[in-house]
Amino acid sequence: MLTADIGSRIELVPMDPHCGDITIGLYRQPGARYLVHTYSRHPDAAARVEFIRHAMAGLGAMAGDGGLLRHACGHAHHAATRRLFLEACKLPNGGSTTPRPLTIFDKKSGKTIAVTASGVDAEGDTARAEAIAGGLKKLAELNESLAYPCGLPHPELTGLLLPRALNVRAILREEEAAATRGVLVAPSAQK
Ligand SMILES: [Zn+2]
Repeated sequence: MLTADIGSRIELVPMDPHCGDITIGLYRQPGARYLVHTYSRHPDAAARVEFIRHAMAGLGAMAGDGGLLRHACGHAHHAATRRLFLEACKLPNGGSTTPRPLTIFDKKSGKTIAVTASGVDAEGDTARAEAIAGGLKKLAELNESLAYPCGLPHPELTGLLLPRALNVRAILREEEAAATRGVLVAPSAQK
């Protein structure tokens, strides 16, 4: 069965506005490898899937493995990869896939947030820094010292998730709503 070959679906964009509202999924295969896939026969579907794969490789520093993607460390980084896919799908084809910086202006505190090897700095605002660190931990499944379980720093993943960590409650709500919508899209209804 085809489903067994492509792996288990871990994320779904039910309607991609950048490519005729096609449905695109992220599938996880054994060996912590990921597949971007669509069942759509839209004429631009293949190019769109190719761009998303390219964007995930660029934004998240993932390596190509045949038609699949994996992290160089060999770990799955499931939560971060799921979000990397969603961020890649937000880009139109040709959008910038350069890794995002580890600093960002935070409107809420009026401070510049920087993630360094020693943690999150919010120009002395420790409460805000802690809240953002908490957001990063949740979004990327980091441990207490803000490290990835594989021991590598993965600055690309951290930079990608940093803007989201500024408002982690909103992003979790948004994802929950999207997941509910995804469930409602039966395979037979997918274009
Ligand atoms: Zn890793």
